[in-house]
Amino acid sequence: MEIIENDDPDWVIGCPPCTDFSVLGRSNHRRMDPDEVRRRMREARTHLHFCVQVYHNQLSRGKDFLHEHPLGASSWREEGIEVLANDPRVSTVVGDLCRYDLKIADANGIVKPIKKPTRWMSSSSEMLERLKKRCDGSHQHGSLLDGKAKYAAIWPNRLCIDILKGMRDTAFSREVKEEFDRYAEVENSITSMLMSFIDYGETACEYKHGASRGLRGIGTAPPERILASTALGTWSEKLRYYDEMTNIELPAKLVEAARAEELEYFNSLPVWDIARTQECWDVTGKPPISTKWVDVNKGDQESYDVRSRLVAREMGGGKNDEFYAPTPPLEDKRLLFSEAATCRRTGKNEKKLLFVDARKAYFNAKVDRPTYVALPAEVSRPGVRGR
Ligand SMILES: [Zn+2]
Repeated sequence: MEIIENDDPDWVIGCPPCTDFSVLGRSNHRRMDPDEVRRRMREARTHLHFCVQVYHNQLSRGKDFLHEHPLGASSWREEGIEVLANDPRVSTVVGDLCRYDLKIADANGIVKPIKKPTRWMSSSSEMLERLKKRCDGSHQHGSLLDGKAKYAAIWPNRLCIDILKGMRDTAFSREVKEEFDRYAEVENSITSMLMSFIDYGETACEYKHGASRGLRGIGTAPPERILASTALGTWSEKLRYYDEMTNIELPAKLVEAARAEELEYFNSLPVWDIARTQECWDVTGKPPISTKWVDVNKGDQESYDVRSRLVAREMGGGKNDEFYAPTPPLEDKRLLFSEAATCRRTGKNEKKLLFVDARKAYFNAKVDRPTYVALPAEVSRPGVRGR
């Protein structure tokens, strides 16, 4: 417990021995000395309840845990487990391990999937989302009798990968949430500041004008003092790349290829003209908008699918619901199909449907003011910017 408090881990995964709680284990108990059974159960309970303590500890620090026991295990009816499972922050799902590649060879050496229905309990719904795959009944299952249960206690790779992905999903969803919380916080404090100024009436106006004058002063550092820092970042093979969401290192070759593809697209439109940095200052009175690469692996560590996007960092203000407009609802598509089908039957006003997947829609918007951006290191030269 001390180790856990000192290390403050983001995740604790508990799979205490389930032998004495499982159906198989309990059937073995019948053949054992009752005293021995009592001793074993005491030990198993102590172990289980220690895990429960650790899980509570994780929850109290706002961290996560994952607990695994067979679906049929009597441990799910232990009081400590029931209390934890009833915590509003905690939920459980059931998954069949055959869907996670659990396989064992039978007596004839034939490898068969093992179902082993398992209940998972966790503080992260993203994690549980990964672990709730059920058997689709498309195969025959092998049996765990004849002393093979111990082999089924080893987690297959597929399962480990899904658990890691669950951690990734959890971290990502928490980060996004935090970002929004922070934004709301900033917005609230700005609102309350404004409200207190409004109380002062005229004085507030004067202050606001003064403040914006002051800010403009800060923004106008002479252009020659802004270093063309991108010139230093030559396109070298030694660069290392990290996934924007998970911070896991990405294979440089794949990232470079993805970035090249994106730049290729930039040039094919083209997205920008090359302009001198001085022009940007003359026209806008401000430095160019900075840009950054967002590299993300949309696949997994086994099969990479790296996408790179170059984004401009000018998204601070003016966010509203439209900014996060989702894709059109499914009903829209249904309506279009229905109308097209109806027109076809009547033979009047026949319609054709054309679906365009605008993967890079954002490049096609009109720019309504002179806009200058920093060029990415891959195409940058000192003293020039993209317009
Ligand atoms: Zn199955």
